[in-house]
Amino acid sequence: MDKHVIGVLGGGQLGRMQVEAANRLNIQMAVLDSENAPAKQINLVASDKHVTGSFAKASDVKQLAAKCDVITYEIEHVDTKVLEELEEQRPHVDGSTWSRIQPSWRTVRTIQDKFLQKQHYAKYGLPTAKSIAVGTWHPQGLKDIAEQLGYPMMLKSRTEAYDGRGNYPVHSVKDIEPALAALKDRPLYAEKWANFKMELAAMVVKTAQEADLDSWEKNTLAYPTVETIHEDSICKLVYAPAREVSKQVAKAAQDLARQAVSTFLGTGVFGVELFLLDDDSLLINEIAPRPHNSGHYTIEACHMSQYEAQIRAILPGLASRIPAGATELTVKAAIMLNILGGPQPDSHLLVAQAALDVPGARIHLYGKGDGRPGRKMGHITITGSSISECEIKMHPLIQWADAVRL
Ligand code: ATP
Ligand code: MG
Ligand code: MG
Repeated sequence: MDKHVIGVLGGGQLGRMQVEAANRLNIQMAVLDSENAPAKQINLVASDKHVTGSFAKASDVKQLAAKCDVITYEIEHVDTKVLEELEEQRPHVDGSTWSRIQPSWRTVRTIQDKFLQKQHYAKYGLPTAKSIAVGTWHPQGLKDIAEQLGYPMMLKSRTEAYDGRGNYPVHSVKDIEPALAALKDRPLYAEKWANFKMELAAMVVKTAQEADLDSWEKNTLAYPTVETIHEDSICKLVYAPAREVSKQVAKAAQDLARQAVSTFLGTGVFGVELFLLDDDSLLINEIAPRPHNSGHYTIEACHMSQYEAQIRAILPGLASRIPAGATELTVKAAIMLNILGGPQPDSHLLVAQAALDVPGARIHLYGKGDGRPGRKMGHITITGSSISECEIKMHPLIQWADAVRL
């Protein structure tokens, strides 16, 4: 299908599902991560190209770059300085005008600092919660910020955040010192509380390299608007399409997601997390410059999965050949349940085993080894002819997932 080798920074579950999609298209992938990382366990096409090391270490990233034509990501916490350097040395794929780092390291540099990310949306007039950088660990500094944002507010780490690890809700002045202690030594900012009635998400495929908000309708495609349910700040369930959301709101969410993604340089899929407020207005929570947990359902429920979309969007000959409609549902409804680790190293397997008895339940286990509480170990997708049909089938599995987490 394409002779270019894709190098991916990170080899967790998102990298693993990218490799699965690449295998089907007979496209080679090289993965940079620790030995036997989830994405390395299943690579049939080019297992000899993997690099053992870290996506945060310059010399390892250079080693990967030497083995591939296009570099992409499955995680945003990468060393962007080395990517900048690599681009200076050789910006394009085989002397073409196609950047060999997709999406751009500039995009990742903005996104990986959540405060810079928020400022980016504000600059383009895109709605997002008001945010203020925290320049001091002195409690008075944060109290002053709380005066401006009001209580509750969310104290967040600017960097290295995932699955809510990096967030601390500040409900009153009493929480200020514990919040600062919990996020000690991390660069911080405070965010106005979003009183949302629902969390929505939409995956967006960006197929043009330039950043151009005016061209969002031409340069981006959106997957359906989905509803995400978080528990303890970790995504638990995804409902596609979002339940009890009007067509207008679902379309507004897709359009906002596409507009936001169009402001970033480079191609690929982006996961856009949104808050839906009581008056049906939307705020952008954050954007991931890569496949996303809220898009796992696309494997079973859409014409083209988010993983295939990522591979096609970053390759010079394939990006312009994603037809309208490829991101649409092939089924009426789907629900995705994350399988999280529990108290025992194999507790999560109880959820996967229960799914064996549910007709049509598609089980994904990531090969991460031992589970830990809250660690994403796998997921289950159920598709059907209505959300309620999926809900009935998913119900016992949610109970298993809850029991495992106790
Ligand atoms: P991930 O990258 O895994 O999605 P994260 O660690 O980057 O998570 P956020 O997306 O910032 O964290 O926040 C996690 C969850 O915390 C959100 O999905 C939402 O439920 C809640 N949350 C975050 N920011 C706010 C806010 N300003 N107001 C209210 N709730 C919030
Ligand atoms: Mg995040
Ligand atoms: Mg998030």
